[in-house]
Amino acid sequence: MLRVCCDAGAAVVPQGGNTGLVGGSVPLHGEVLLALRRFGTLDPVDARAGQVTAQAGVTIARLHDHARAAGWDYGVDLSARDSATVGGTIATNAGGIYVMRYGATRRQVLGIEAVLSDGRVVRHLDGLEKDNTGYDLAGLLCGSEGTLAVITAARLRLVPRLTHVVVALLAFDDVEGALDAVGALRRAVDSLRAVELFFQDGLDLVCDRLRLPRPFNRPHHAFVLVEAAAGSPPTTVLRASSGATAKDTRKRSTNLAHHTSSTSPSRVSSSPRSSKKCATRSLTARRTRRCGCSAMRPTATST
Ligand SMILES: Cc1cc2nc3c(=O)[nH]c(=O)nc-3n(C[C@H](O)[C@H](O)[C@H](O)COP(=O)(O)OP(=O)(O)OC[C@H]3O[C@@H](n4cnc5c(N)ncnc54)[C@H](O)[C@@H]3O)c2cc1C
Repeated sequence: MLRVCCDAGAAVVPQGGNTGLVGGSVPLHGEVLLALRRFGTLDPVDARAGQVTAQAGVTIARLHDHARAAGWDYGVDLSARDSATVGGTIATNAGGIYVMRYGATRRQVLGIEAVLSDGRVVRHLDGLEKDNTGYDLAGLLCGSEGTLAVITAARLRLVPRLTHVVVALLAFDDVEGALDAVGALRRAVDSLRAVELFFQDGLDLVCDRLRLPRPFNRPHHAFVLVEAAAGSPPTTVLRASSGATAKDTRKRSTNLAHHTSSTSPSRVSSSPRSSKKCATRSLTARRTRRCGCSAMRPTATST
């Protein structure tokens, strides 16, 4: 099809889940729309290598389910997961909520198969991590947004599935305090998996729309939602580090509180659309306590 379009001089727009927020997958000037959703083959997980080969149309949610069923996980997650595809997330080099821990999509792609605009197929799906020969074709196509080739499949790195998850919500009177705390947590909590900043107006919106009580007894300027995940409970270290952060923060007259949640970590995301869900998760947490170090409840999740 690409060869025919090329010969005819017709522009092509590849489309995955059509969740990109900047309209890159939407034809505006009569281009041919190439939908990849039917490229849905997902190979068995290679448990020795911790890798899997997925066709471009596989959704991120399906990829997660597939990896988790084999005791692995995929390091990129975002709230568009039910529609966003492997091809689309590679084409946009999507980051997602775990980017701090695992890096963006480029770090997960070990091999790629793609079709050039003249119809030639390039394929390098071996997934040998030490392979340093030649050009980094996969890296080049990551973030190329359909301008260089149509991605049809990828060899993806998996990460160990972490079953012990702890979530804390921290409140600050200024953004500087929030950023200092994130730096301190990054140094101290090696199980840190996600960090998300949001503001009082976002919290108000969620609380008002869902008729939920405020998690803190007075307004704050900034909130940081923190998630730590490990193979064994990371509760103690997160509690200790949050306590230390609380002390530092109190020195600057900033109020800190945190609490834990028992709900699925897969609902967290850094996107605007899903901040509502994040805050909702925080708001439905079992405990809320002001200042210092409240008891943290570790959760073994089935996600
Ligand atoms: C609710 C929500 C949350 C999000 N959260 C994040 C986030 O946390 N972090 C982040 O980085 N991004 C986030 N995004 C944006 C995210 O990067 C994109 O939604 C996603 O990566 C696009 O995947 P898709 O399959 O929907 O691609 P599409 O939207 O269909 O396409 C996106 C671009 O990739 C091209 N493309 C698609 N498939 C292919 C292919 N097979 N080969 C070549 N080019 C292709 C398209 O032409 C287009 O330019 C979010 C989006 C939403 C809606």
